[in-house]
Amino acid sequence: MIKISNRLNNLAESATLKMAAMSRSLIAEGKDVIALSLGEPDFETPHHIREAAKAAIDAGHNKYTPVNGLADLRKAISNKFMRDNGLDYSADQIVVSTGAKQSLANVINALIDPGDEVIVASPFWVSYAAQVQLAEGKLIELHAGIERDFKVTPDMLEAAITDKTKIFLFSSPCNPTGAVYSKEELQGLAEVIGSREGIYVVADEIYEHINFIGGHQSIGQFDCLADRVVTVNGLSKGFAMTGWRLGYIGAPTAIAKACTKMQGQITSGTCVIAQMAAIEALGDNLKRTYEMREAFLRRRNLVLELLGKIPGLKLNVPEGAFYVFPDASAFFGSSDGDTQIKNVDDLCMYLLEDANVAVVTGSAFGNDKCFRISYAAADERLIEAAERIKVSLGKLQPVAVA
Ligand code: PMP
Ligand code: GLU
Repeated sequence: MIKISNRLNNLAESATLKMAAMSRSLIAEGKDVIALSLGEPDFETPHHIREAAKAAIDAGHNKYTPVNGLADLRKAISNKFMRDNGLDYSADQIVVSTGAKQSLANVINALIDPGDEVIVASPFWVSYAAQVQLAEGKLIELHAGIERDFKVTPDMLEAAITDKTKIFLFSSPCNPTGAVYSKEELQGLAEVIGSREGIYVVADEIYEHINFIGGHQSIGQFDCLADRVVTVNGLSKGFAMTGWRLGYIGAPTAIAKACTKMQGQITSGTCVIAQMAAIEALGDNLKRTYEMREAFLRRRNLVLELLGKIPGLKLNVPEGAFYVFPDASAFFGSSDGDTQIKNVDDLCMYLLEDANVAVVTGSAFGNDKCFRISYAAADERLIEAAERIKVSLGKLQPVAVA
């Protein structure tokens, strides 16, 4: 038997990718599964970006790029940070990677020594926990429930800081909750970190463009955090480019250099064609991005209306991204006469098996009451999924749990 390393044996599989793989194999078996598990836009990549990639191939681009990314792309990203976010990162403070997932892994490895603490706003995106674990850091979860729109406060942050704290990590708009922090809320958090030495903020802004409440706000805008914010972003969500694998950071120079060293040993940098296309994506033509945002907003409203009619589900109004994160704890301790629902993991498996709807359990995101629905799917499928969920949940009756 092959002995896999303890490091990998102890690592959880990505719950989002696992659920997506399970629904793919059920679909391959002929089941009509509605997969609302993966956070992936269902649109095509905008035409002008695809054309730029084709032109890059035809122009013969086939070589390794600088490890941190093509100079023209880093310049375009530097301009984008200033144009959209008012952030001043020079081109040598930018590192382009194989998706924002790798950007995050680079940063965590660049900053975390064994035992260092990473405070995350919880619910948090699945891979944060795994990446901190791989770096032998300690995850400190700040739990914020649905009653406070899943947002952490400056007081919570203040109370969690110790002399081991190295990073405060969060996403806004948030995966899995869709919560969006306002400028004032970010300022409160920034002031807490700003008053301490040696703590860095890692701001995951990959859902920047899918924001239903107006202009995106970056925590890096506050002077009290000068040179202490790593801003993570990428093309997957706002440009429907998940498969192109392109993410990037703006970071203090020393962190950017460390991330470059890291990926110089691991990937040598990301695909040159994706990088050439990214230069086009980050230009001024955001028409399709805005159209996709409008479609997501319409679907959010549709899903909230449909799920709102299901007794027992508690919902808040997500202000961005493309997820709803209903609290389903009213169903714990119930059964359809066959399957017992003890917790949210059971509930998600029940929905997969009984309703043939794939969602992701909140426990993967640090929340054991909720589950995540990605509404990046066609309206008809969302309507059908809500109906099936309603029918399946309607069969559950309270039971005395042993
Ligand atoms: N951060 C968040 C919050 C995400 O939802 C995702 C989803 N894939 C990522 C980072 C990583 O994105 P990618 O690697 O596709 O750029
Ligand atoms: N970020 C997406 C999600 O949360 C894609 C899957 C992944 O990268 O884990 O579903």
